[in-house]
Amino acid sequence: MDSAKTQRIQLHELPFRPFLTEAEINERVVELGKDLAERLKGGDPSFIVMLRGAFIFAADLIRASGMDGEISFVRTSSYKGTETEGKVRMHLAPEAQAVTGRDVVLIEDIVDSGLTMQAFLPELEALNPKSITLVTLLHKPEAQRVDVKIDFVGFVIPTKFVVGYGLDYDGRGRHLAGIWQLAEDF
Ligand code: 5GP
Repeated sequence: MDSAKTQRIQLHELPFRPFLTEAEINERVVELGKDLAERLKGGDPSFIVMLRGAFIFAADLIRASGMDGEISFVRTSSYKGTETEGKVRMHLAPEAQAVTGRDVVLIEDIVDSGLTMQAFLPELEALNPKSITLVTLLHKPEAQRVDVKIDFVGFVIPTKFVVGYGLDYDGRGRHLAGIWQLAEDF
């Protein structure tokens, strides 16, 4: 147990320590899937996955929900390295047919400053969805700079950089089964 706590991995020049285990994540994702299915009962969801960080979470969440539905992907960028930038660039935009008149389930890896969602949600709304349900695996409320209505949160976490389970640090660490937090002791 203690050795698990003192465990470190290094990605590029930075050390990370264990933060959420694979089992903890799995347990929470199963709960979220059930909650989501309950909320959207009888609906025809259109899942929109924020690339790249949310791809593993989305795969697990959608299967945990047991809901059939169209799955599409969008890609924005809002940060470099460990710094969240204010600007959001759209690399892969949502397709109107996946949004207009649909019960959209927007799946995000992490809401940090909230700027990505603040910029992206109006783009979705402009396509006239029937509803939008925002699900994020992680939320850093202390880092949030703008108001964002989040429907489901997996874990509320402190304002420290994390990797794993789809989240990267400069292209590394997405494959990790658990979530790791930047260790301060370096
Ligand atoms: P926001 O626009 O809410 O500040 O940030 C959203 C995006 O910033 C996330 O989708 C993610 O790509 C990136 N981000 C914010 N915090 C972290 C973090 O702790 N780790 C990683 N890997 N990405 C983060």
